[in-house]
Amino acid sequence: MKITGAKVFVGGPGKNYVTLKIYTDQGIYGLGDATLNNRETLPASYLRDYIIPNLIGKDPRNSEDIWQFLYRGAYFRRGPIAMAAFGAVDIALWDIKAKLANMPLYQLFGGKSRDSALVYAHATGSDLEQLIDNITFYKDQGYKAVRVQCGIPDMPTAGYGVREDDDSKSDFITDFSGIKPKIEIWDTERYMRYMPDALARIREHFGPELKILHDVHHRLTPREAAAFAKSVEPVSLFWLEDPTPAEDQNALQFLRQHSTVPIAIGEVFNSIYDCQHLIENNLIDYIRIAVTYAGGITHVKRIVDLAGLHNVRTGFHGAPSHSPISMAAQAHLNAWAPNFGIQEYLVLGTKECDALFPSQHKLASGLFYVSDDIGLGVDFDEKEAEKYSYVAGSHPVVRLEDGTVWNY
Ligand SMILES: [Mg+2]
Repeated sequence: MKITGAKVFVGGPGKNYVTLKIYTDQGIYGLGDATLNNRETLPASYLRDYIIPNLIGKDPRNSEDIWQFLYRGAYFRRGPIAMAAFGAVDIALWDIKAKLANMPLYQLFGGKSRDSALVYAHATGSDLEQLIDNITFYKDQGYKAVRVQCGIPDMPTAGYGVREDDDSKSDFITDFSGIKPKIEIWDTERYMRYMPDALARIREHFGPELKILHDVHHRLTPREAAAFAKSVEPVSLFWLEDPTPAEDQNALQFLRQHSTVPIAIGEVFNSIYDCQHLIENNLIDYIRIAVTYAGGITHVKRIVDLAGLHNVRTGFHGAPSHSPISMAAQAHLNAWAPNFGIQEYLVLGTKECDALFPSQHKLASGLFYVSDDIGLGVDFDEKEAEKYSYVAGSHPVVRLEDGTVWNY
């Protein structure tokens, strides 16, 4: 069996999805996702210029050898752009392998460990009243877990994950008006003064059953993060996400000494080596890696197994930048993983998105039901894809009031 060709498509409804399609001499094809949010053209170029010419003629069943060829063969290892490109190839090869086996992908990992996977939605509000309305919107649909982000009074601009316009149920924070980012102003003191009380009021309003998650988005220093975690302990959060920038991994020891709030980190990681210290030293409770820019299924499965050894559970990244292809790959891992925790799920089930990526995967009452169709269980309509192309966009860049650049 041989790979005969591959194509990269960039575009989608309101998103620049980077979709890889690998063709074989037996008519079977595989699909992968290399979408690196706000830098989409870079993994696409890596795939087109370097990887695809090297895939032609290779046996697609040898996914491990191909992964090692790409990773070790590049000499310059790791990094989100390369790992997103390798990840797309790897997801597509697993899709081909499962189609050859005539099985849904999860069967190749060891079968299902659960009937459905818990997911969480994002609720945001420009103020607490609007946030409570939006949490109610998700709770009414049966969601059991919601990430909550609230506008902070007197913050010069809206905080992370909070939109300034009325479309507060949407979390699409990319601005497609051009490549130059808008500036967002951040004030840690105002956040620290307001947010613990806001979280306490949300807990009081919704009672003990709702799983409440909150994302700090790397904005605090280690001391501030420890103080914040301590102050929100009575709220019984499901997790506190990215309290500090994760480059300084020993900083988490300080937080751990002061609080038992569950910590989730890893959405910007792209390698098992980024996760190793945090997992082996029990500095986190959930690992937030994603198949999209962490080398695909082959590499992420190794991270899940390492996490399992240390009682760390999965909480895969699932921002709107992940296409239904990588979300399907994660759905199969979620069905299998003995240490599954929760899945972030924000792919909006729009008519346009469903037409581009047809599948039988289902979300109902805050639970994700993986499809039993063979392979990844998601297809890609090339005719439909002709409607879309790359649109330049950017995330905001964050500054403090005195102009200092801060962590996005
Ligand atoms: Mg996050």
